[in-house]
Amino acid sequence: TFRPARRIAAIGVSEILRIGATAARLKREGRPVIVLGAGEPDFDTPENVKEAAWRAIRAGATKYTALDGTADLKAAIAEKFRRDNALDFAPEEITVGAGAKQVIHNALMATLDEGDEVILAAPYWTSYADMVAIAGGVPVPIACREENGFRLDAADLERAITPRTRWLMLNSPSNPTGSAYGEAELRPILEVLKRHKQVWLMSDEIYEHLCYGNFVFRSAVSLAPELRARTLTINGVSKSYAMTGWRIGYGAGPRELIAAMAVVQSQSTSNPCSVSQAAAVEALTGPQQVVEERRLSFQRRRDLVVDGLNAIPGITCRRPEGAFYTYSSCAGLIGRKTPSGQVIDSDTAFCRYLLEEHDVAVVPGSVFGLAPFFRISYAAAESELRNAIDRIARAAAVLQ
Ligand code: PLP
Repeated sequence: TFRPARRIAAIGVSEILRIGATAARLKREGRPVIVLGAGEPDFDTPENVKEAAWRAIRAGATKYTALDGTADLKAAIAEKFRRDNALDFAPEEITVGAGAKQVIHNALMATLDEGDEVILAAPYWTSYADMVAIAGGVPVPIACREENGFRLDAADLERAITPRTRWLMLNSPSNPTGSAYGEAELRPILEVLKRHKQVWLMSDEIYEHLCYGNFVFRSAVSLAPELRARTLTINGVSKSYAMTGWRIGYGAGPRELIAAMAVVQSQSTSNPCSVSQAAAVEALTGPQQVVEERRLSFQRRRDLVVDGLNAIPGITCRRPEGAFYTYSSCAGLIGRKTPSGQVIDSDTAFCRYLLEEHDVAVVPGSVFGLAPFFRISYAAAESELRNAIDRIARAAAVLQ
C-alpha cells in the first residue's frame, strides 16, 4: 500500500483545488460559472516576447543552460534591479528558477533545518506555509488586522521572533489581500529585523509592477542596506508580463545563499527552460509600454470590483494598493440563512453557497489564514466582473 512521506502527509488537499474541481463539474453540467479564483493575468504574453522565443528556438537555444540562469538573463535581471529599484547585483548574487515558486522552494530547502521557524504575515499566499513545511520548517503565522491594511505590525513581529526564527516572508503587493507596504510601513519592520541578526528577510515582490493610484513601490532591501547580507528579493515575469506558463522567476541576495540554492536546483530541475529564459530577457529589456497599459486596465477593474462590493449590504472591501486581488469581509452575512435553509456559519460556507447556487467561484479567507473574508481575483474581463458582482449582490440579498 502507498505510504506518503511524513513531510507530504502534513499537507492537506487545498480548498482552492476543491473549489476548482466543483467549478469544473458545474461547468460540465452546463452552468455559466464565473471563476474568479485564478492567480494569473487574463492577458496574453506580449508579441515581442513570443517572437524572442521563436528566434531563440531557431538559433538553437535548445540545450541545457547554466545552472541558475544564462549570463544574458542574469544581465537583464541586474539591469531591471538597477532601473526599477536602484539596486546593484552581481551575476553571482542572482538566481533564476522555474518560476518564483522554485526560487522560494530552493531558498527554504537550502536554509531550513527540521523545526526552524518561518514567520508569515497572515493572510498569506497558501503555498508559503506548505513550502515551509515540505522543507521541514514550521510556519509561524501572525494575524494582520484589516484596520492595519492587512499589514504586519512591527510589535507583533517582534513578539513572534524566537532564537529558531530563520525567515520573515513578506509579500508586497500581497496575494491574497492586494495590500502593499510603502516606505513608511516597511521601515518599522526593517528596524525590528535589524535587531534580530538570526532572521533573514524573504521579500516577495512579484506584483511590483501592479501598483495603483499614488502608491509608490519600494523594494524592501533598498530601504535597509544593512539587511542586504540577509535579504533575498524574489521577483519574476509571470505576473508583470503575463508569462505564468513560461516558468521564469528570479531571486537576488548574498552569494553564499545563492550558491546554496544552486545546489538544490542542480539536483531537481538542473536549469530553467532555455527558451523561456531567452523570452524573459526580451520581457525585461524590451519595450515596457504594455506593462503600463495593463496596469491601468487592472486599476479600472480594481475600482469596479471594490465599488461594486462595497455597495452590497453585509460586505465591505478595502481598496488595495496592488496585485489583482480584493479581500472582502463577509462578517455582515455570517449567521444568516440561505433560501434552502443552510446557515452561513463561515466564509467557506459563504463561498460554497456562492458557487453552488449563484455560479461564482471565489476563495474563502480561511484558506489564507484570516477569516471571515473572501478573495476575488479580478484578472478577468470587465463584463465578467460586472456580472459576478451582480450575482454576489443577488446571493447576499436573498439571505435571511
Ligand atoms: N509569489 C506570490 C505571492 C504569488 O502569488 C505567486 C503566484 O501565484 C508566486 C510567487 C509564484 O509565481 P511564479 O512561480 O509563477 O513565478
